[in-house]
Amino acid sequence: MEESNKVDHSKNIIEVADVSFSYDGREDVLQNITLAIHQGDYIGLVGPNGAGKTTLLKVMLNLLVPHQGSVRLFGQDMRDFEEWHKIGYVPQKLANFDANFPASVFEVVLMGRCAGKRLFQRTTEADKKAVLDALEKVDMREFKDRLIGDLSGGQQQRVFIARALVNRPEVIFLDEPTAAVDREAKDSFFALLQKLNQEAGLTLVLVSHDIRRLTQEVMHIACVDKTLTCHISPEEYLAESESSDIGGKKVKILTHHHHN
Ligand code: ADP
Repeated sequence: MEESNKVDHSKNIIEVADVSFSYDGREDVLQNITLAIHQGDYIGLVGPNGAGKTTLLKVMLNLLVPHQGSVRLFGQDMRDFEEWHKIGYVPQKLANFDANFPASVFEVVLMGRCAGKRLFQRTTEADKKAVLDALEKVDMREFKDRLIGDLSGGQQQRVFIARALVNRPEVIFLDEPTAAVDREAKDSFFALLQKLNQEAGLTLVLVSHDIRRLTQEVMHIACVDKTLTCHISPEEYLAESESSDIGGKKVKILTHHHHN
């Protein structure tokens, strides 16, 4: 994937500086992580299970507070940041959404719109329009009245993206978004992400185990294994992996220690 000239390297959307994090004072799960994500970037976070990828996402979203280092969002210190509508999040657990949950597609997307509002506040025309626009962007508008539980994994994931898009964010974080997407739907799902990145200029931060696929899709790969072990282009990543190939993909990832 060629790097799009739409990436504006002068604009940092997220700056993680020397961040260390541990759960309840235990051993560090993240250690001295420094990473900048630019406007228009499409970045894949990779690393073995338990490497701290989800934890890093949560630190960048202020859902977890590091004991060392700082995070800046849109040039502002996290602690002063208030423009949360600029950030969308598709968490991993949505993939295990209760299939019997009796909500329509429209309602699920509306929930994203209501986040931060008082519960049961009346739905406005603007809310409705925002929901339909978001569904349009993921090609799911015609499904608006269907029950979320009746959709396929790939269709549900599109709805969850619409839910993240409904407040017109500038960046979206996706944690293992293809876990519940079947093989045939994966291509169109990644095509949707490309469209959002290329045409809408949305910055994307994607955690995925599917490294082969990620290297075909993203502009940058960041390898996390407690520390940041690399931050390179997919081409460099593949070249590095091949030169140190001693026994399959898993080993390559585990032994990947390129310091940048
Ligand atoms: P990844 O997303 O790369 O699989 P995680 O960020 O989920 O990794 O987890 C990193 C480490 O932190 C793992 O050892 C995991 O067991 C631990 N961990 C994750 N969440 C919690 C939690 N809520 N409390 C304690 N430890 C946790």
